[in-house]
Amino acid sequence: MNLDSRTMMVMMSALILLFSGLLTLAGLQAGNTRGMQHWAAGSLCIGLGLGFALLQQDLPGSAWVLVFGATLVAAGTGFQFNGIQAFKTGLCSKHIPWSLAGLVFIQGIWFVVLHPDIHARVVANSLVLALCNAACARALFIRIEQPLRTAYWFTGASFAAVATMLLIRAIVVFLAPANTYGLYTQASINPVTFFIGSMAQMCLAFGFVLMLNYRLSADLQKLALSDALTGALNRRSLEQEAARLSARCTRTGDALAILMIDVDHFKSINDRYGHPVGDEVLKRLAAIAHATIRSDDYFARYGGEEFCILLPSTTENDAWIIADRLRQNYAALAMEFGGEVLHSTISIGVSSSIHAGLEFSSLVAAADQAMYRAKQEGRNRVVMHSSYCLNQVGA
Ligand code: GH3
Ligand code: MG
Ligand code: MG
Repeated sequence: MNLDSRTMMVMMSALILLFSGLLTLAGLQAGNTRGMQHWAAGSLCIGLGLGFALLQQDLPGSAWVLVFGATLVAAGTGFQFNGIQAFKTGLCSKHIPWSLAGLVFIQGIWFVVLHPDIHARVVANSLVLALCNAACARALFIRIEQPLRTAYWFTGASFAAVATMLLIRAIVVFLAPANTYGLYTQASINPVTFFIGSMAQMCLAFGFVLMLNYRLSADLQKLALSDALTGALNRRSLEQEAARLSARCTRTGDALAILMIDVDHFKSINDRYGHPVGDEVLKRLAAIAHATIRSDDYFARYGGEEFCILLPSTTENDAWIIADRLRQNYAALAMEFGGEVLHSTISIGVSSSIHAGLEFSSLVAAADQAMYRAKQEGRNRVVMHSSYCLNQVGA
């Protein structure tokens, strides 16, 4: 295959600049998704850096043009690294792109002005850039959020390909006989490097957009399934989970228990302290419920100040124990609002599939009856549906 270095370089530079525009647009559309601006800046720097290298034959002071080009590419890779960190954690170090650019610039000055040696410069730059790309690949391969796994792996593999290619380039140039290397030497590693580089940069841009796409759809799914105020599951996702658990319990013969929770005299809290305080009380209850239940239980907002907890593989007695722990934890909470301390309580009804059947509506109806019984009995208590005449438990 007879690849022409110059054409490959024009193509690569133009492609990367196009991707920079694409990432900027995707970043604008993605709103506050972190990292897109870093990525767009990274692509812009790399595209411009390669453009500089392209111009070096036509400009006076060509060695300096190459130094600036390599510096821009290093800064661009630093921005890409920051983009990954910002996308994953929301945090990144602003120094990374500038430090990398400084390092490559100093290497350039050293090997261009002070000790001119084109081989040494290419080897040094290729090694630094190979390390940066390997660091980007590593950042994408570790601590992956499950729904974004495929997108992370795809982008990480593209960075790993760029790192490998740069390492091979460094080795080939290092082993080449003196004075045989030039940027546009046909026999050199350059055309292949530029071809693989173009492909990899295209994959990187696709990878970034893919990550963004996965993140947005995961966010949307989370929004569609959870309650905005408390972060609990909403009623729709509760019904979906209940249907799934009922089917599983039918297969395995396991029991499914349910708790219906209602805040006592919540209307008077709203009336006395105002709606925002009422909202905060609901959030505190949700936080306590999340801390009290087990990781495979499902906590949902059923509506207003009523919540529901699904407890898979749990008998009614065990569900009662969990419910009473929640009741006690909530009652013990001293909530302070504007200098005033507020105490609140909840009433809980418990039902189980052993008595009420696996149909979600009958489980809810049974737990609801038990909860209203708890209200009648004086509130701040847990009542089991199967035996509430015998097992009322006082606070
Ligand atoms: P009980 O002990 O019998 O349950 O008395 P209660 O006052 O809690 O009963 P009720 O069901 O009548 O009151 C529920 C109140 O919850 C009425 C409604 O204004 C309030 N509410 C429903 N949703 C929200 C919400 O999202 N935020 C706030 N602050 N209040 C809400
Ligand atoms: Mg209510
Ligand atoms: Mg209430």
